[in-house]
Amino acid sequence: MVETELEFGSEFQLLVAVMLSAQCTDKRINQVTPELFRRFPDAKSMAQVEADEVLEYIKSVSYPNSKADHLVKMARIVAEQYDGEIPHDMDQLLALPGVGRKTANVVQSVAFDKPTLAVDTHVFRVSHRLGLVSAKDNTPYKVEMALTKNIPEEDIPRAHHWLLLHGRYVCTARKPHCERCDLSGVCPTTSADRQRGSASSADHKEHPSWADR
Ligand code: SF4
Repeated sequence: MVETELEFGSEFQLLVAVMLSAQCTDKRINQVTPELFRRFPDAKSMAQVEADEVLEYIKSVSYPNSKADHLVKMARIVAEQYDGEIPHDMDQLLALPGVGRKTANVVQSVAFDKPTLAVDTHVFRVSHRLGLVSAKDNTPYKVEMALTKNIPEEDIPRAHHWLLLHGRYVCTARKPHCERCDLSGVCPTTSADRQRGSASSADHKEHPSWADR
């Protein structure tokens, strides 16, 4: 199983954690999910309550009202249509309330070890900076297609995690840490920077291609 920094104990809990993590940090999600999962360990327990009750446990995350609403609706469908099991099929996952392509890809990759690659803001940014995709790949879906076309299938589940962590801790949005980046020797972004004679990482703020998207 591919790793994630989110903490969970089942496929249902992984889906809940990933849905909660949209526009929020994994650290924050890991603070609220222990209590949430104690009260609602599975889809069947969450399916029995109204969104207000779930909201009490997730008030500190971003967009708590809509996330609580989506979680309960998702849990009801999973409980009623799939006997509490998270579906493996991509289309069935995408049909669940509050589940977009990125969330479905994370679940497919982390829980089911399928060769899918979720493109979040970190993966998108790092892929462009490293020249893994072209300027024409200007949407998450295009980046996903370009990356999965060129990465060996057996490495795809891990590639999301590698790119995400690199973007979160090294190739950060506003001030990438090129001075301690193991990829600086092959990164076209730093090469272009050196040719311009401005190797300072502070200069990265000004480069339009480094804007977080
Ligand atoms: S060298 Fe700099 S821009 Fe290139 S991947 Fe590393 S941190 Fe990002």
